[in-house]
Amino acid sequence: MSGPAGLDALVLGGGPAALCITAELGAQGLDVALMSLRDPRAPWQNTFGIWGEEVDQLGLQHLLGHRWSNTVSWFGSGCLGDEGRLGHGRDYGLFDKAALQQHWLDAIARDGVLCIESQAKSLSHDSNGSTITTSDGAAHHARIVIDATGHEPVFLQRPNDGLVAGQAAYGVVGRFSQAPVEPGQFVLMDYRCDHLSEQQRQGPPTFLYAMDLGGGRFFVEETSLALAPALSYGELERRLHQRLNHRGIAIEAVEHVEYCLFPMNPALPDLSQQLLGFGGSASMVHPASGYMVGSLLRRGPGLAAALAEAINDGQRGRDLAQAGWGNLWPAELRRRHGLYRFGLEKLMRFDEAQLRAFFAAFFSLPNERWFGFLANTLPTPTLLQTMLQLFGGASNPVRWGLMQPKGRELSLMGKMLQW
Ligand SMILES: Cc1cc2nc3c(=O)[nH]c(=O)nc-3n(C[C@H](O)[C@H](O)[C@H](O)COP(=O)(O)OP(=O)(O)OC[C@H]3O[C@@H](n4cnc5c(N)ncnc54)[C@H](O)[C@@H]3O)c2cc1C
Repeated sequence: MSGPAGLDALVLGGGPAALCITAELGAQGLDVALMSLRDPRAPWQNTFGIWGEEVDQLGLQHLLGHRWSNTVSWFGSGCLGDEGRLGHGRDYGLFDKAALQQHWLDAIARDGVLCIESQAKSLSHDSNGSTITTSDGAAHHARIVIDATGHEPVFLQRPNDGLVAGQAAYGVVGRFSQAPVEPGQFVLMDYRCDHLSEQQRQGPPTFLYAMDLGGGRFFVEETSLALAPALSYGELERRLHQRLNHRGIAIEAVEHVEYCLFPMNPALPDLSQQLLGFGGSASMVHPASGYMVGSLLRRGPGLAAALAEAINDGQRGRDLAQAGWGNLWPAELRRRHGLYRFGLEKLMRFDEAQLRAFFAAFFSLPNERWFGFLANTLPTPTLLQTMLQLFGGASNPVRWGLMQPKGRELSLMGKMLQW
């Protein structure tokens, strides 16, 4: 058992969410421990992208390994002119993932946080808090346990409201016979599909996410925004090669292959449980874009401050968990999450031409509107207004697609109205 009185907080996990919230709780002066299956200093595999303005606002621009000002998307023929090229007029960045991890590890070390390398195996609650027992039989009691074990959390309960859509991608970092994107360029979405047969175009749409990493290295990733069940890696790999072949580009050297799969639109966790979540476990992935790191960085400090205040007020057990959930998922954010899930439900059912036309219209919205939509920084009334503006500016086939209920839209709408 850790300490006679136990810990204030015990965080489970070793990914970005666990490190972020542990660092913030430590900064509040709480007695906190991190329990991670593997060494939390082990290098992360994923690459994490973010819009430049998001890191600028957080004062964390020094954590970017790459930053591009030449940021574009392609939506193909019939959209915005011949090949549907659209400049985003905004910087995009890729975290230096070792620097991001070290940023949090340094804070954790500075605040003397206890790191326990162990597998959390079982959980029990009492009126003073919760106890985690590890696979080697050690018990650790804390006033609050935060499950940050990722998209398939070990303990956190989420209601099952149907099949969850997955964002899937297959990517290669390497050298190519010719540049797959212009020098110094970042491509958010290349939805051009002239390399696909008519029959392939009837299948689920995919796009290319690509960037120049400098020194002759590029990252190219074939991505399926969201599909239930998710598109297979085999199909994504085939499509990436087909796309490159069509442009006469061969892969000459592979440095790294990225396999990406995570749930886009899980339901919100059960907010009455005596256990908190943070990150993928707590459904913090943006259901319309798949991004999460910016949200961790923005929401971590507030959650930690709310927990510190509640702990200092003597709250414990279920009341403490309620204080945490109330801060992480207040009604305003629940409503926006509902709107984003509703929107994704529509997009998942668009065919390739509708999807290309939809995104061309989306990125033609005023710059601060589409950015706020993607960063989840627009208040609900502005978000709604933006969605209506998008509807008004879209082509007829897109409007028709937006109006046709083909999935769970009505039940999602019903849930939103309850909030
Ligand atoms: C390939 C890929 C690319 C992505 N790209 C981006 C991007 O560009 N930008 C962005 O914002 N988001 C991106 N995401 C989405 C999201 O940010 C990531 O999925 C992120 O890693 C989720 O963080 P997490 O800490 O919640 O979970 P994870 O990173 O999955 O971490 C979970 C941790 O819990 C630990 N754990 C599991 N079980 C136990 C246990 N029993 N006891 C203790 N510890 C345990 C695991 O070892 C792991 O360290 C991407 C996701 C993927 C998969």
